[in-house]
Amino acid sequence: MAINLRLVRNVFIAIAVLGFFVLYVLWRQWQIRGSIDDIDWRTATVANDSGEEVTATWLGVTTLLFDDGDTQILLDGEFTRLSPIQIALLRPVKSDVATINYALAAFRMDRLAAIVPVHSHFDHAMDVGQVANRTSAVIFGSESTANIARGANVPVSQYQILADGETRQFGAFTIKLIASAHAPIGFNDHEYFSGIIDDPLVQPARVPEWKTGVAWSILIGHPRGTTLVQGSAGYVKGKLSGEKADVVMLSVAGLAGLGREYTKVYWDQTVTATGAKRVIAIHHDDFTAPFGEVKLQPTMLDNVVKTAGWLDEIVAEEGSEVAIELPPFGQRMVLY
Ligand SMILES: [Zn+2]
Repeated sequence: MAINLRLVRNVFIAIAVLGFFVLYVLWRQWQIRGSIDDIDWRTATVANDSGEEVTATWLGVTTLLFDDGDTQILLDGEFTRLSPIQIALLRPVKSDVATINYALAAFRMDRLAAIVPVHSHFDHAMDVGQVANRTSAVIFGSESTANIARGANVPVSQYQILADGETRQFGAFTIKLIASAHAPIGFNDHEYFSGIIDDPLVQPARVPEWKTGVAWSILIGHPRGTTLVQGSAGYVKGKLSGEKADVVMLSVAGLAGLGREYTKVYWDQTVTATGAKRVIAIHHDDFTAPFGEVKLQPTMLDNVVKTAGWLDEIVAEEGSEVAIELPPFGQRMVLY
């Protein structure tokens, strides 16, 4: 049977044109995003240099450096930024050690006692091993997090698996890990890349290999006050009802897609449950932007301006006195 070469050629051209068109539309959609200036939350107060306060420095997504002048506790410690192409094409990726070295030096992480990723996805836990290997800090988390540490050849003395409700003390800080849930953003009400990392995760690896493990609610206690870090917008009903917090660092990622009703329950299960009067929003920024660059997610992925409107309405409806703030990048916010 003779192959009609002209037909084959035309089909190829048509597919190529369509492919370029789809890429162009996606690229244009990617540029459409809200502005942080459209959210009328105030920026958290920055510390003076007295060293008297307990502070937290936000370094993008849910990376937070707690410091009381003696001891530093690092949540996530995620400094590598992957491009949308690396993520979408599932390319093998590895930690950006130049940026990790820069961040550790620039933000003076020289008294680091602990590293606690909020869960084991790549945008939170990819760099924990590289950070531990450059400091004397101990990594705390689930079995999945331990496998990220093992894959990076972190010494056994420098990582620990914690069970639901377990605590650890460092200087005046107490860290308590409470098993929570990841925001159900994916298929069938399950998050993307769900499950457990069963084996040491050696880099380079593909993004889906960083599976959730346990998504934690993390309580950072101190004699001066307590902060709850909710690193993913999930909840387990009633789980935090016995806990008290002064401040909640609240992940807002994915709420726009989950809806207003979900957002209200999430708020009640975290902020209302702990009695916190102050909320600092986190995970509102595009995690593919270069380290240090803060912009909202493309609207096609998340609409944080819409979420902010809902949260303002929820606070007003409940008549509560809760203040919601935005974290300034790389500056020491006063907690208490
Ligand atoms: Zn996640």
